Amino acid sequence: MTKENETTKSYNIAPGPKMGVVTPEFLETIAAVARRHAIPLLKITEAQRFALIGHDPEQVAQIWQELGQEAGPQKPVGIHYIKACPGEKWCKYGRKDSLAMGEKMGAALLSMPLPAKTKVGISGCPMNCCESFVRDLGIFGKKNGWSLVFGGNGGGMPRIGDIIAENLSDEEAIRLAERCLQYYAANARKKERTARFMERTDLETFKEAVLSK
Ligand code: SF4
Repeated sequence: MTKENETTKSYNIAPGPKMGVVTPEFLETIAAVARRHAIPLLKITEAQRFALIGHDPEQVAQIWQELGQEAGPQKPVGIHYIKACPGEKWCKYGRKDSLAMGEKMGAALLSMPLPAKTKVGISGCPMNCCESFVRDLGIFGKKNGWSLVFGGNGGGMPRIGDIIAENLSDEEAIRLAERCLQYYAANARKKERTARFMERTDLETFKEAVLSK
């Protein structure tokens, strides 16, 4: 992702990683590129990505090349990011494998065109370290399966999302996530975030539509 910004030096590049999981090689590449181009601000974003901020616009193509990635391909508006916590493999409180679920969700959802930017938070237990209740689509693990939350937002007009279903298997959670997003895509206004959409949508009607198939 390359983004124009209104500050002095006007571009930033966010090359990843996915869900905040890094390798030594990735870190070495980022560090080398940041040093070589004298990047003034290297920041970990809320989306669990590194952002290289404050370079000149003419450096963009070269930086992407040195990172070994395509220069910020433009994709349709849709899933902005999927963030996930360490989950049951790596956290003593974990009930479900949130990183594995993040991979599966990404494969199923990342290419869906949606009315507005849509953020996904996947947490391995009800402690919700990935803020699943305040993401457009949130999933968190419990002993008997995943709970799926829809329509949350953590911005300037925060909203706690609605629990749509509980005790879901991996496959059920992915299918339900797809149906929620399809219903949202079919019925929301252009640029309307899920939180605002759910505020004007009858919850029972929404649930009936997404749970009945
Ligand atoms: S949400 Fe639960 S599993 Fe995930 S990091 Fe927090 S405590 Fe651990």
